[in-house]
Amino acid sequence: MHQRTQPQSVLVVGASRGIGAATAKLFAERGDLVTGTHRGTGVPAGVTGVEADVRDESSIQSAVRTVLDSTGRLDVVVVNAGITRQELLVRMTAESAREVFEVNTIGSMMVVKHAAKLMNRQRSGSIVLVSSESAHTGIPGSSHYTASKAALEGFMRSAMWEYGPRGIRINTVAPGTTETDMIAPLTSENRAKMLAATPLGRFAEPEEIADVIYWTAHSTFLTGAVIPVTGGEGFGA
Ligand code: NAD
Repeated sequence: MHQRTQPQSVLVVGASRGIGAATAKLFAERGDLVTGTHRGTGVPAGVTGVEADVRDESSIQSAVRTVLDSTGRLDVVVVNAGITRQELLVRMTAESAREVFEVNTIGSMMVVKHAAKLMNRQRSGSIVLVSSESAHTGIPGSSHYTASKAALEGFMRSAMWEYGPRGIRINTVAPGTTETDMIAPLTSENRAKMLAATPLGRFAEPEEIADVIYWTAHSTFLTGAVIPVTGGEGFGA
């Protein structure tokens, strides 16, 4: 069993609010050295903030460099940045589908690329992607979103083969509906329907997703896994 003897150097991408902020806070509270990215809005107390937009590869590179300069290494990356749009396919434009893929899929892939470059030199590292249970079940009104997250999971399955031999693990946490700004546009009718489809009868709090991200990041023999954290939503459907 590998024992952690020192605080880990952690980068959380998209740490300004919601699941990412809860994750950055939790790692910091549990003793890790945490850097979180934001886009001008700051990060929780106890976390070092760095500005980055995953659509801009040079800003990702400089966020990774900032972590290296301040802590000397990069042990864990949580790739949490994501966006969604509510629009039926009949009204969807290629432009809006591109925007969703640019952040959720391509942006996440570029974060992994630059983080893994550094982890490769260390011969160790742990990467946690944040997908969505809706990539497995489907959800009307955001087919670009579910497709972008399903693509991210496919990406993980290839990347883990490329990086596993270098001691780098890559896993995915797939949250069910979680109480963050992302679900604010849901109508009360849709909320009620989704709650009815969730055995635990409530949505997740961001801290509950963060807890599984923490465990996944710090495990030692898990790679290529997709871990659903859904309160049962999506099972037995
Ligand atoms: P949120 O909207 O509260 O937070 C999204 C985070 O991503 C913010 O910090 C935002 O600044 C960041 N971000 C967005 N675009 C970015 C960009 N171009 N560059 C860098 N950062 C960017 O939403 P959340 O619910 O906390 O979502 C976090 C992750 O969890 C997302 O990947 C989302 O798809 C996923 N998720 C959320 C739910 C849910 O119900 N809330 C369910 C399943 C999966």
